[in-house]
Amino acid sequence: MSSNEINLSDRVSGSLFGLLICDSLGTAVECQTSDSFDPVKTLRGGGKFQLKPGQFTDDGSMALCLAFALLDDNDDSTTHQSVKQMNLYRRWYENGYLSSNGECFDIGITVRIALNKFISDSDKQSISSTAYYGNTSQKASGNGSLMRLAPIPLLYRENPLQAMIEAMNSSKTTHASSFCLDCCRIYTSLIIGALQGFSKNDLLNDEKLFLPNGLPDDYWITNTVETDVLKVMKGSYKHLNPPEIKASGFVVETMEAALWAFYHSSSFEEGALKAVNLGDDADTVGAIYGMLAGAFYGIDQIPKEWREKCYLTDLVQTVADELLAQSQSRTKVSMIYQKVVEIYDQLAKFYSGTIKRRTLPCPKQYKSVEELNEDVEQLHLIYANSLKSVIGEDKQIIVSRCDGILKQFLSLIDDDKQSLSLKWSRNVKGFSMK
Ligand SMILES: [Mg+2]
Repeated sequence: MSSNEINLSDRVSGSLFGLLICDSLGTAVECQTSDSFDPVKTLRGGGKFQLKPGQFTDDGSMALCLAFALLDDNDDSTTHQSVKQMNLYRRWYENGYLSSNGECFDIGITVRIALNKFISDSDKQSISSTAYYGNTSQKASGNGSLMRLAPIPLLYRENPLQAMIEAMNSSKTTHASSFCLDCCRIYTSLIIGALQGFSKNDLLNDEKLFLPNGLPDDYWITNTVETDVLKVMKGSYKHLNPPEIKASGFVVETMEAALWAFYHSSSFEEGALKAVNLGDDADTVGAIYGMLAGAFYGIDQIPKEWREKCYLTDLVQTVADELLAQSQSRTKVSMIYQKVVEIYDQLAKFYSGTIKRRTLPCPKQYKSVEELNEDVEQLHLIYANSLKSVIGEDKQIIVSRCDGILKQFLSLIDDDKQSLSLKWSRNVKGFSMK
C-alpha cells in the first residue's frame, strides 16, 4: 500500500497504539545488554517488571496522561495546561492512574524529581500559574518527555507551528534542557509529516531538513537546534550501527536509535523488533519508534496479535478517536469520550482505592477471598449504575468500550486473587508475611 492510501484515522490510532505496543515489546529486555538475551520476536512480557504481554510501562502511562490533559482543555477552564498535565502525572505516580497493572512501578529520575517538587509545592499551595518543573541543565537530558510525546502532534497536526510550541511546553513540565526541547520539536514535525502522508525519503531527507506542510520554510533557520541534534537530523543513523547506535537514556541517542530502526526497515514489525532488540532502554526506544512508525504505516500494519494484546485497548481507541476529532474541531468533547473516561475513572478509583490497596501488605488487607469477592461485586455494581446514564445513539459503542475496560480491571483482580492465595499458602506453611 502506498503511504497516501492510509487514512488519517488509521495513522492517528497507529501512532498511539504504536507507542504503547512497542513500549510493551521492549520492556521484556529493558536494562539488558543486547548480547545477553534471546532476541524479542513478539510480545512476550516478563522483563524487569515481570509484566504480562501487552502491559506497558511509564512511557505508555505518561502518554495517556498527557492525552487526557490535552483533551480536557476546554475553554471555560482557568487551569494552565502544564498544571493539568502534572496533576495527571501525579495521579499516575501516586495511584497508578492509567497504568497497565494498577500501579506506578517505574519512573525516570528526572520525572521523579520534577514531580516531587510539584507535589510539595501543590500541597503547600505554592505553585505558580504554570507547572514547568523541568531542569534546564544539559545534564538532565533524559528521554522522558520524548517518550510520551505522540498526543501533541496528533492533536495539533493542523497547526504545526503551535504544535512545536506545545511540544516544548509539554516537555518543560519535567525536562527543560535544550536537547529535550529540540528532540520534541523534531519528532513533532516528523509525526505530523507522517500523518500528512510524506514518504520515508522526504521525512528522513538529510540534505534538506524536513518541514511538514504548514511550517514556515525558514523554521529551522530561525529556530535552530543544538549541534548534536542537528547531526541526527542530517541522518547520522543512516551510516551507523550498534554499538555506535545506543539505546541509552540520553534523549539525543534515544531519538537516533529510534530513527535508525525506522530507516533500516521496511515494515512496522521489522523496525519495532530492531528498536527493542538494542536492549538497554528498549521500551523507550520502542515507544519513540512506535509513535512515528505507527503514524507512517497506519494501525493495520501493526501485527494483529500485538494489537489484541495491548492493555486498555478500548480506552486507547477512544482516546485516539477523540484526538482525531478534536484536532479537527476544538469546540466540543464527544459524548463517547466523556462517558468512557467517566466510567474508566470510576472503576479506576474503586480499584486503586479499595481493591488494589487492600491486597498489598497494609492494615486493611483482606482476610479472605470472600471479602475480596464482595468488593468485586461492588465494582460490578458501580459499572452497572454508570451504564444507566448512557443514552442515545452512541450507546452501543460506549457500552462495548466500557465492557473492555471492566474486563481489564477484572483481569487485574484475578492477579490479586492469586497473590492472596499465594500469601495464604505461605501462611499455612508457616511463611507468614510481616
Ligand atoms: Mg518505560
